[in-house]
Amino acid sequence: MSSEQIRKRRSNEEALLRELHFRGMLSRSELSRRLDIRKSSVTNIVTDMLERGILIEEHPEAPRSRVGLNGGAMRTLTAYLTPGEIRVSEILGDGTVSGIAREKTSRGTLPSDLLAKTAQMLGAELKAARLARRPMIGVGVAVPGTVDPRIGRGIHAVNLRQWKDIEAGRILEAELGIPVRVENDAHCQLLGNTWFRTDLVGYRNLLYVSLQEGVVAVGMVGGKVLSGKHFAAGEIGCLRAGSEGRRCTCGKSDCLQTYVSTPALVNSLNRKRPGRSFHNVAELASAVAGTEDPDLLGDVHAALEPLAPIVATMTAMLDPDAIVLATEDAAFSDLVRPLLESHLNREMLGLYAQAVRVVVADDVEKATLRGVASVLIRRAFRNGFEMAG
Ligand SMILES: [Zn+2]
Repeated sequence: MSSEQIRKRRSNEEALLRELHFRGMLSRSELSRRLDIRKSSVTNIVTDMLERGILIEEHPEAPRSRVGLNGGAMRTLTAYLTPGEIRVSEILGDGTVSGIAREKTSRGTLPSDLLAKTAQMLGAELKAARLARRPMIGVGVAVPGTVDPRIGRGIHAVNLRQWKDIEAGRILEAELGIPVRVENDAHCQLLGNTWFRTDLVGYRNLLYVSLQEGVVAVGMVGGKVLSGKHFAAGEIGCLRAGSEGRRCTCGKSDCLQTYVSTPALVNSLNRKRPGRSFHNVAELASAVAGTEDPDLLGDVHAALEPLAPIVATMTAMLDPDAIVLATEDAAFSDLVRPLLESHLNREMLGLYAQAVRVVVADDVEKATLRGVASVLIRRAFRNGFEMAG
């Protein structure tokens, strides 16, 4: 094949794999029709991928059987490095998370120790997978803060001690002897939602708003996550958002995260209630569901006020299909969703004919690990599973 033919074949293969990922099993004719690829080309690609075990047939003996992805041939090994814990999990091509190994760390743990521990955990999983003959198509790690994924460098993370210009990818590769992809955790969370959630299929423009210990808003345009020149696109946590003089961990005052990160929201509400002390947003959510404090919901709404103009500006810029909202607690996300919607619709003064739509994100930990998997799977789709071997 000429290089042009090879390029064409690769792009057809990728389109076919993506179609099967998002639509489930399809027949060869359906694939040909949906993708506008000649039937003979589809048949060639499918035959080759069946032989290699990348695809499976619904009814192997029937000549016109529908075909689908072989989830088991798309195993990835993923890790999520957080300030308090390292999580490692194997993820299948269909998003199945097969158990999560955890190791506690402390906020004082140095980058070298965090990475040594991560390498140890990944190494143990790889060894077990090799013994059980479960080949992986890739290994990846999500880390907080700004990340240059091209070279696997952690540029800066406020919540990890001394995490500055850390060559995480290179260090892990040296330990494990195989390539390791390093990605920003919030980007992974957005990708974990768009790649595996059937209700978000077809959404190419999204704004992912995460209120946790930090506050981040990641944009996706035309299916691509926005990173920016310094890989800092969406780092809104330290924008000025008030004038109460609240101190931020960054050294400045009145950063957005001192008002609407989930610990900050809990503190604000506790301050208004001398007799009461919530420990986290889960407790807050269950108190709102109860009846003993009828003002609580209104106070949560008021506490979210500083978030609205910033997210409204980003929404006006991106014009997204939807805003995907994440917090560490599902019940709290459900509570905040309509409050944020009402703030945004008020801020945007009817900019769109339809109201802004906010949907609740998948569980953050699961979405992060699945997001890492999606990066590795999409790369395998692009390069025709060269690494599958
Ligand atoms: Zn700050």
